Amino acid sequence: MRIFSPKRYVASVDRIDLNELWAQGKRAIMLDRDNTLVPRDRKTAPAEICAWLDRARDKGFALCMVSNNWHRDQVMRSASELGLDAISHAMKPAPFALRAALKRMGRTAGEAVLIGDQLYTDVWAGNFAGVDTILVKPQTEVDLWYTQIFRIFERRALRDLTCEE
Ligand SMILES: [Mg+2]
Repeated sequence: MRIFSPKRYVASVDRIDLNELWAQGKRAIMLDRDNTLVPRDRKTAPAEICAWLDRARDKGFALCMVSNNWHRDQVMRSASELGLDAISHAMKPAPFALRAALKRMGRTAGEAVLIGDQLYTDVWAGNFAGVDTILVKPQTEVDLWYTQIFRIFERRALRDLTCEE
């Protein structure tokens, strides 16, 4: 189903070519937190991710973390460590938080891309909001219990999709 299809499927955030996104007219990047930027079993993002975010900022991209995580302090701490604006309790797949992030960044849906590790929250939300999505592989196998249930369906849905390594 189209609503569950990411625009691209890439191994990890730092493999995404920023020059290519820029050339496509993208100017804003929304990022999921858990298992996209920060592994579920750690408190901080790996160095490669931090370096990639720095390059994105230097290039002129507007950046915003959009997280479903209910621990606002956790989200805000990561965001400030990474120098990102952030929205917690995003309730993806609902598109409202994405629209709020776009408004803050002063960019349109067409100029933005959402990067996340889950089909049924991140990709769905992006498609609802008319924002291109890039699905990344989760950084760890550690997930919340209900995410683990969604992962079963996700694996099935992703069977025919090749991941760019
Ligand atoms: Mg996630």
